[in-house]
Amino acid sequence: MGVPTLGCSCRVCTSTDPRDRRLRPSVAIEWQEEGATLDPHCVLIDTGPDFRQQALRFGIRNIDAVFYTHPHADHILGLDDLRPLTFGHRDQKMPLYADAATADVLERVFSYTFSATATYPTRARVELRRLNGAVDVAGATFTPVPLLHGKLGVTGYRFGNAAYLTDMNNVPDASMPLLEGVEVVVLDALRPQPHPTHATISEAIGWAQRIGARETWFTHMSHEVMHAETDPQLPASIRLAYDGLRVPIEL
Ligand SMILES: [Zn+2]
Ligand SMILES: [Zn+2]
Repeated sequence: MGVPTLGCSCRVCTSTDPRDRRLRPSVAIEWQEEGATLDPHCVLIDTGPDFRQQALRFGIRNIDAVFYTHPHADHILGLDDLRPLTFGHRDQKMPLYADAATADVLERVFSYTFSATATYPTRARVELRRLNGAVDVAGATFTPVPLLHGKLGVTGYRFGNAAYLTDMNNVPDASMPLLEGVEVVVLDALRPQPHPTHATISEAIGWAQRIGARETWFTHMSHEVMHAETDPQLPASIRLAYDGLRVPIEL
């Protein structure tokens, strides 16, 4: 829902700590080839309703590809704001990767973009590709990691020594080998209280310890979590993420 949450005046929603102001979850992976003079390569995971603000605030000027985790509104509704970044997109359509169920929803919600009969002249120049294993983007490999968000199958991603696993409360046994050797993990941790589709703080600590990364960053926290209070209580290898956080990884 984002924090502050609409209609709420609780102590987290009114906190003056910038780490308690949470736009909808998303991550950008940036890398630059040695000696390159173009903008860095950038892969985005999800385009939520806050994508435009995030791109402006954090200086995202070029996107090579977008990967989607699942078709909920807080992860897809900013797709149309990709438009200006797709117009001169290295002379080809920007690829968007999603599992079949997510791609079906994107095609329906953004029919004016994807329909074979779409004619709107300045629709996004994007190409939806259904995921079928690992994808290479400009030399970096992105591997889908199947997860469960309650009963809904969602897609996490492994790239280099890092993984992004949001909107989940279960990592199926078959997905654990895909996380072997991972050193930096971003993990769903909604709040202390139980939730049917998101990991609680203590469930997320359990997943973090089973995955065993050197560092784990919790994301998707709700207004039940005050950063300054919860962060110091976590095990040493686990921290709360916050908007604008930058973490070095190896691709
Ligand atoms: Zn609140
Ligand atoms: Zn979500």
